[in-house]
Amino acid sequence: MARNFKYHVYFRQYNDEILQKWKGRVKLCLLGIDLGGTTIKAGLVDLEGQLLVKAQVPTGAGDGAAAVLGRIGALTDELCRRLGITRKDLKGIGIGVPGSVEGEKGLVRLAPNLFWRDFPLGEELSARLGLPVAVDNDAHVAALGEMWRGAGRGLQSLLMITVGTGIGSALIINGYVWRGFFGYGAEMGHVKMLPDGPLCHCGGRGCLETLASATAMVRRFREYLAAGRISRLQDAPGLGAREILAAAAGGDELCLQVVDEAASFLGRALANAALIVGPEAVIIGGGPVQAGEVFLAPVRSYLTEALGAWQIRPLPVVAAGLRNDAGIIGAARLALQLT
Ligand SMILES: [Zn+2]
Repeated sequence: MARNFKYHVYFRQYNDEILQKWKGRVKLCLLGIDLGGTTIKAGLVDLEGQLLVKAQVPTGAGDGAAAVLGRIGALTDELCRRLGITRKDLKGIGIGVPGSVEGEKGLVRLAPNLFWRDFPLGEELSARLGLPVAVDNDAHVAALGEMWRGAGRGLQSLLMITVGTGIGSALIINGYVWRGFFGYGAEMGHVKMLPDGPLCHCGGRGCLETLASATAMVRRFREYLAAGRISRLQDAPGLGAREILAAAAGGDELCLQVVDEAASFLGRALANAALIVGPEAVIIGGGPVQAGEVFLAPVRSYLTEALGAWQIRPLPVVAAGLRNDAGIIGAARLALQLT
């Protein structure tokens, strides 16, 4: 509770004290880092959330943690050089990682894509760069970005879900990220939607991400083809959800059915979550959302149906606004807590 309370106090103070203190000092910025399994994206962001400059390098996670930290250091100096500032002009660093993060010192408990287990990222990076560092899970960080500068601007309570290879999610209540007491709060990708459903990598069956992720859509499409169903879209090794959504938008019946099934699971899962937390809005990010209404419209429709009479006011379901920059801007927002 103490950790979340600190977030709460911080966000309350942000507008009043911190912004007043630093506003006008345009040289001072935040460094936001989106550390992915394949790419490190980083950017310098001003205190109002404006992305000033960004760059990216391959993560090279297989070279070990020290090499990854070295690349982050080089990227930091390159960004500063481009903006004509030095590390001393950075107020702090925020970093989002694809894994579970514990505590204010940024201990990465498990990040399979980076091959990290119990790695003290916050301490190590802070020692290397001589700056304060805040660390959080990448889905949480993206939601902070959307709240600050994206589709959730001006809102205080958000449910965000990111549909990709898996399904990531985050819950912001009264302006702060709800992490849960044991580190798995808002893990919507693993809510159980179908008894005896497909096996998930977490060991469970019928998890939402086995039914509504981009991966799930491709798997389902192939299952239907194998069962003799016909589609204008041909199977190919590189086939992805993008192609299925495009074919659905073009009227392909099988693809429409696959998208509709995924949307039905996602819409009902979101309705269940909304009935528990009552958010101001639901934000959906990830690749399939870029296909637009062909995906969002059925999600909205199933959500509305499942909420039924409880939807006293229409619950906005909107596409994420920051796309690829959400991780950088959200990480910078995270860094603002370092006072
Ligand atoms: Zn699972």
